Amino acid sequence: MNKRGVLLVISGPSGVGKGTIINKLFDMDDNLYFSVSATTRQPRQGEINGVHYTFKSIEEFEHDIETGEMLEHAQFSGNYYGTPRSAVEKKLSQGKDVVLDIEIQGARNVKRLMPEAVLVYILPPSIDELKKRLNGRHTETEESVSRRLHTAYSELHEAPELYDYFIVNDVVENAATKIEEILDCKRCGKAAMQEIIKQILEEAENLA
Ligand code: ADP
Ligand code: 5GP
Repeated sequence: MNKRGVLLVISGPSGVGKGTIINKLFDMDDNLYFSVSATTRQPRQGEINGVHYTFKSIEEFEHDIETGEMLEHAQFSGNYYGTPRSAVEKKLSQGKDVVLDIEIQGARNVKRLMPEAVLVYILPPSIDELKKRLNGRHTETEESVSRRLHTAYSELHEAPELYDYFIVNDVVENAATKIEEILDCKRCGKAAMQEIIKQILEEAENLA
C-alpha cells in the first residue's frame, strides 16, 4: 500500500542546534530523507558538496530559480538558499519522511505550497546560551555572528503565528525524541494515510 511520507520542516535561530538535532534524529529513525539544499554561501570547514549543501555560484542558483527547479528559496545573511523540488517530491511519493532545515521565509512558502507539512521551530534555552553556541561553533566571523543574531531576533517575532510546534533545545536527545513523537503522529495523519484510505474504500465498494 502506498503511504505518503511526511514533510518535516525544521527552523530556528542560527546556532540553536538544528543540525545537531537532525543528526540525532537520523540515528533514531531510518525512514528519513534529508533534503540537501543549494546555497551560494562558501563551504565551512568540513562541509562536503552534495552532503551538507550543494554549493552553487549566484549564476547557477538564479538559473535554477528561473527553470523552476527550486521548491522554495530565500536570501539569508547575504546568500541564497533553496530546496530542490524534484528530490523532495520523489521521496515523499516513495513514502520517505523528508526533513528540511530551512529559515522562516522558506518555511512560509512550503506551508503555502504544501499545507500538510509539519513545521517545527527550535528555541534556545536562553538568548545567552544561543550566543554561546553560535560563538562556540567557531564557523562565523564576528560580523556574521552579529548578523545572524539580528536575523534570529526578527525571526523569533514572526515564528509564533506560522509554526505548529516549538521545541526548546536544552538536551539534544530530548529535543530529537520530541520531534520523533511528532513524526509518529503525523505518520497516521490524513495526508499520509489518504492513499491507504482510498484503497480500503475501493475494496469495500467491490464487496458491496
Ligand atoms: P544550527 O544548525 O542550528 O545552526 P548547530 O547544530 O551547528 O546549529 O549547533 C551549534 C552549536 O551548538 C554546535 O557547536 C553544537 O555542538 C552546539 N549544540 C547544539 N545543541 C546543543 C545543546 N543541546 N547543548 C549544548 N550545545 C549544543
Ligand atoms: P547556515 O548558513 O547556517 O548553514 O544556514 C543559514 C540558514 O539558512 C539556516 O536558518 C538554515 O535553516 C537556512 N537554510 C538552509 N537551507 C535552506 C533552504 O534550502 N531554504 C531556505 N529557505 N533556508 C535554508
